[in-house]
Amino acid sequence: MGFIKPHAVLVPFPAQGHINPMMQLAQKLVEDGFIVTFVNTDFNHARIFQANNMAKSGLSTDEVEICHNIRLVSISDGLAPQDSRTDFAKLTNSMENCMGHSFHKLIEEINEKEQHNVTCLIVDINVACWSLDIAKQYHIPSAAICPASAATYATFYNIPNLVSAGLLPSNGVFKEQKMVDYSLPSMPPIHCTRFAWMVGSEEDQEILFHYTLRNIESVRDIESVICNTFLDLEATILNSFPEQDLVCPVGPLIPSQFFNGNISQSNTGLIATGFWAEELQCLEWLDKQSPESVIYVSFGSLVILNERQFEEFALGLEATQRPFLWVVRNDLLDGTTTVFPSGFTERIKDRGCLVSWAPQLSVLSHPSIACFVTHCGWNSTLESISMGVPMICWPYFADQFLNCSYIAEVWKIGLVLKANNNGIMDKLEIETAVERVLSDEDGVEIRKRVRKLKKSGRDAVKEGGSSSINYKSFLNATKNS
Ligand code: UDP
Repeated sequence: MGFIKPHAVLVPFPAQGHINPMMQLAQKLVEDGFIVTFVNTDFNHARIFQANNMAKSGLSTDEVEICHNIRLVSISDGLAPQDSRTDFAKLTNSMENCMGHSFHKLIEEINEKEQHNVTCLIVDINVACWSLDIAKQYHIPSAAICPASAATYATFYNIPNLVSAGLLPSNGVFKEQKMVDYSLPSMPPIHCTRFAWMVGSEEDQEILFHYTLRNIESVRDIESVICNTFLDLEATILNSFPEQDLVCPVGPLIPSQFFNGNISQSNTGLIATGFWAEELQCLEWLDKQSPESVIYVSFGSLVILNERQFEEFALGLEATQRPFLWVVRNDLLDGTTTVFPSGFTERIKDRGCLVSWAPQLSVLSHPSIACFVTHCGWNSTLESISMGVPMICWPYFADQFLNCSYIAEVWKIGLVLKANNNGIMDKLEIETAVERVLSDEDGVEIRKRVRKLKKSGRDAVKEGGSSSINYKSFLNATKNS
């Protein structure tokens, strides 16, 4: 009988910032001898397929065996094609009602039809409440991954304690505005409107709070929870978990070629997971700029700005008089089309590069990049740290406020932009922050600190480093269970 490879089924939450690190994990597993089935929603599967021109490579959307033993499959999220996937209360409700059943069927089909039975299930903590039951039923060993920071996970994990201590209302939604100091080690106090579940209307927030609670409850029973972070970055909070519920940092989950000095390459050989097509020509533009001169601006996959915010921000960037690369997604503006301030594109054409989606890791690792104006999504934060790039923060929602507090107050590797009462970022605010990070005394210290963390992150994933050791024991447990 031949050697049968272990077969892991991976299930991310259906959003860009969750799919990317899950795919990094998939590629690592495959390097370590696994076969991986990667489960997207039909909606995202079609988007990724289209954005990355997979049809041109002769692939069909039904079932995509791309390469390296990773197979992309998909199931319905239960919503209609025209429904918004950024209404998270609606999306999570629908997933919980529909995806569990389809997922069950998928696992049964794999086990009935294929030579490679499912040997383990690795799910995003944010889909645990509907995806882990089947593992119990069929005794499939399972693990969960937190694609966010350990601090975010600690907040979720401690919800029941915080409710018992009277620090959180039992439905997660505060009646009065206040700062909450939830006395977890190293955790900066947070304004009550800035918890990760505070998205949408009060009703939505309550739905998301209870969804989070159900996920955390489901994760409590399983053997391993791994997290896309590293020990030196979040040691205090990581060490605060009780022995029986330890969270193992295995990050930064970033393809190794970005750590090997092979920078600014346009073709990484990785499986593309972007919802938008990457505009690779920005790398050539970066090649022409001076070292550490360019401001990189990206607000991730979900941020939406109103027209005034967008306009003032564009003028702020212009006022810096420095070269910049700005990712302006086709849905960044809450209206219909992107309207730049009058004459803007003409005035900045010699020093500004505008793209609708960038190869972010290649950009951040490019020697021309000086700083990153970011919404503080966890992947962007970790990617910036891994490339030693200081940040200027404009958080928008979910865990981004907490990430921002860590960047500015705990690690001190960036500055926060402060909006006026109307949520507008004054152009002077942007100009001043850029100057402070790039030329002030503050900036020198900020850059020193972020470079130190970059080294710690790289050491963590090297042979013998803390994340590498944790990943290996996770792998052994997963292979042998
Ligand atoms: N990203 C990218 N190109 C862009 C902007 C973002 O490839 O132009 C990637 C980025 O590298 C990161 C992900 O999209 O891996 C965004 O995740 P993050 O957690 O930062 O933010 P979210 O989109 O979840 O708000």
